[in-house]
Amino acid sequence: MRVLVLNCGSSSVKFAVIDTATHEAISSGLVENIGVNGHIKAKGPTSKIDTMVDAPTHVEAIAAMQDFLKTENLVDSIEAIGHRVVHGGKYITSAPVTREVIDYIKSITLFAPLHEPAHAMGMEVAKKYFPTLPQVAVFDTAFHQTMPRKAFLYGIPYKYYEDLQIRRYGFHGTSHRYVSAEAARLLGKKPEDLNCITAHLGNGSSAAAIRGGKCVDTTMGFTPLDGLVMGTRSGSLDPAILFFLNKKLGFDIDRLDKLVNKESGLLGLSGLSNDMRTLTQAASEGHEGAKIALEVFCYKLAREIGGITMALPTLDALIFTGGIGENSRIVRETTLESLSILGFKMDKARNEKNGKESGGIISREGSTPIAMVIATNEELLIALDTEELVK
Ligand code: ADP
Repeated sequence: MRVLVLNCGSSSVKFAVIDTATHEAISSGLVENIGVNGHIKAKGPTSKIDTMVDAPTHVEAIAAMQDFLKTENLVDSIEAIGHRVVHGGKYITSAPVTREVIDYIKSITLFAPLHEPAHAMGMEVAKKYFPTLPQVAVFDTAFHQTMPRKAFLYGIPYKYYEDLQIRRYGFHGTSHRYVSAEAARLLGKKPEDLNCITAHLGNGSSAAAIRGGKCVDTTMGFTPLDGLVMGTRSGSLDPAILFFLNKKLGFDIDRLDKLVNKESGLLGLSGLSNDMRTLTQAASEGHEGAKIALEVFCYKLAREIGGITMALPTLDALIFTGGIGENSRIVRETTLESLSILGFKMDKARNEKNGKESGGIISREGSTPIAMVIATNEELLIALDTEELVK
């Protein structure tokens, strides 16, 4: 089946047409800067485009995408649409898009203010442009809904969970689910027989503890701000720091929001960049800020992995994924060194090749736990979920 996978953000629409039989992306692209100076970049089997487009809203953006798919003669072959949804609130699995689902997504706007309205709008606009196609919502939080109460509750009065559903939700669930299933496949095990930690390290980063295919703990929380140090997000923080900044510097809520979401993480620590490639290069040339950022990023990652490992009965494997996890040899090496108490023994040559010639494995032959690198493929999993629900 050919599935159009849509990821509608506040100012962009990313898309891919996935063939679920071959697992190939037949076409992919994005419309960005919606509302400002729209731009479409897309490729298909016969052509590529990279051009400005008049897209004051998501309506014109999706129309531009459809025009491109028409020129590639793909529209008639698409049988369903799968949407990536950042926050699924109460949803524990993917779900067919209905009026109720769209209204629910709108109702939890406060949980992810930039994303949820864009997702709901994307579903409504997709219905207009592809009226006959069934649509499915795949939630980034759903995979984490198997966490036990002890893992998802915060240490604040219980009534805030009951009244306002304040709890750990976790994000990147589609990626954690995909790479943990891939790890089981590559290791020749059933997912039920694998206990692992997955570390999705990109601009946003999170780790998850997965027991027999089910998530039992994760580092992101009520929002994607919790947990690991990220590109521009602080990760976990003593909340009293915010009270202190308010009292000392007069920072209000909006200023604090900007500080911890946009000015912190690798960018804030290094004073240079949020980009791991830039930082690795700069650190090798002696840039002190870059060295500090790398050091803190890897140590906090090891510390959080150590923490969530306590949710597992045994640790069989640690899987690195995402732009940093898949490519940064230095991040994996430094993190595994910090985790040596768990028994990790890295193989330098395998790590150098990103595990490409050793079935994803970068730990030494026969050593346990196994360390692996697996490329994530969220679009494929969204397409496969969509196919399953549509059938
Ligand atoms: P997003 O979370 O936006 O999907 P990605 O998963 O693409 O982000 O990850 C982006 C991060 O991956 C950036 O910090 C980038 O520097 C890093 N990255 C990509 N390629 C490399 C590389 N070869 N070496 C080190 N870091 C890399």
